[in-house]
Amino acid sequence: MDVATTYNYDVVIVGAGPAGMCAGMYAGRSMLKSVVLERGFPGGELLNTELIEDYPGFEHILGHELAQKFSDHAAKFGAEFKTGVIVECVTKRADGKFETRTESGDAYISPAVIVTAGGTPIKLGVPGEAEYAGKGVSYCAICDGAFFREQVIAVVGGGDAAVEEADFLTRYGSKVILIHRRGELRASKILQQRLFANPKIEVIWNTIVDEVKADEQGLVNKLILRNVDSNTTSELAAQAMFVFIGFRPNTGIIEGHIDHDDMGYLKTDANMHTSMRGLFAAGDVRAQLTRQVTTAVGDATTAAIAVEKYLKAIADGDPGEAITGSGGYAV
Ligand SMILES: Cc1cc2nc3c(=O)[nH]c(=O)nc-3n(C[C@H](O)[C@H](O)[C@H](O)COP(=O)(O)OP(=O)(O)OC[C@H]3O[C@@H](n4cnc5c(N)ncnc54)[C@H](O)[C@@H]3O)c2cc1C
Repeated sequence: MDVATTYNYDVVIVGAGPAGMCAGMYAGRSMLKSVVLERGFPGGELLNTELIEDYPGFEHILGHELAQKFSDHAAKFGAEFKTGVIVECVTKRADGKFETRTESGDAYISPAVIVTAGGTPIKLGVPGEAEYAGKGVSYCAICDGAFFREQVIAVVGGGDAAVEEADFLTRYGSKVILIHRRGELRASKILQQRLFANPKIEVIWNTIVDEVKADEQGLVNKLILRNVDSNTTSELAAQAMFVFIGFRPNTGIIEGHIDHDDMGYLKTDANMHTSMRGLFAAGDVRAQLTRQVTTAVGDATTAAIAVEKYLKAIADGDPGEAITGSGGYAV
């Protein structure tokens, strides 16, 4: 592919979710020439979250409001955002620098990259799911919930996201039915308490969705369910199915091997340095115990400061040994 334009930066940050925006802020404060490349609008998963109640300093804040605050704050310290830019690949060149190539053909050359690309919702993979996406099948409650006022909404999953979003969707649906493949939820106890106290929510246990059906206009009207214990099927009349069964890390853009866990999340050392020298990872894309806004910004703070030290070490003729030891994840 022809390279449309080549840009040079100290550090390229891939993705403007909480991690990318925070990394941009710290890189800006460190006077690094940095750019945050984002395929959509700055905010990442915050734009898919109605209410945040666990970000310190804010008892409650709307997801999109927190996103705006993050991006304003980063811009104030000189972070450069480029939006609508889809990163196609990040390649390590023979000279040790990275080339971050975008879909439009532009190339961003930098000695360091921070990957903050988050994850993509995992699909159920059942008949009708892909076909009726946007016609009743959704992965984003805040985006699509309002389309189903006074209708029956099914939610699939049993973790924090499923339980939180089931609760949120009761403001629209006449009824919200949580379908979970196990006999107990994985969600935190406080979210479970809220769920069980909500009279508009019903839980169908030990059950999976086999198929999504639609009416003659192509709008979802029914789910075929299967009880995993008895292996019997049943029909559930519902106009929407929201799926919250987890995320896959967006690591496909990186060319070459990087150590990762079984789910594909990138392993890093304590300085967010991956096993590829000069490539750092922060936020949901990284292998770790939990994935929250607080952990994303914590990772990003460390990553941006580690990049500053890494670049200084290179400039001083020390190839970064002092920063991470091996440049690998084992410290
Ligand atoms: C429904 C839901 C509710 C949640 N509720 C809470 C909550 O209440 N409290 C809490 O702390 N956390 C919550 N979370 C988790 C929190 O939103 C995430 O942990 C956080 O957003 C992770 O930030 P991130 O920057 O690592 O990734 P993301 O927010 O996923 O951002 C990644 C960004 O990278 C961009 N990107 C990806 N690939 C490319 C590419 N190839 N080119 C360009 N850009 C790319 C994406 O467009 C995206 O903007 C919730 C998550 C969900 C899904």
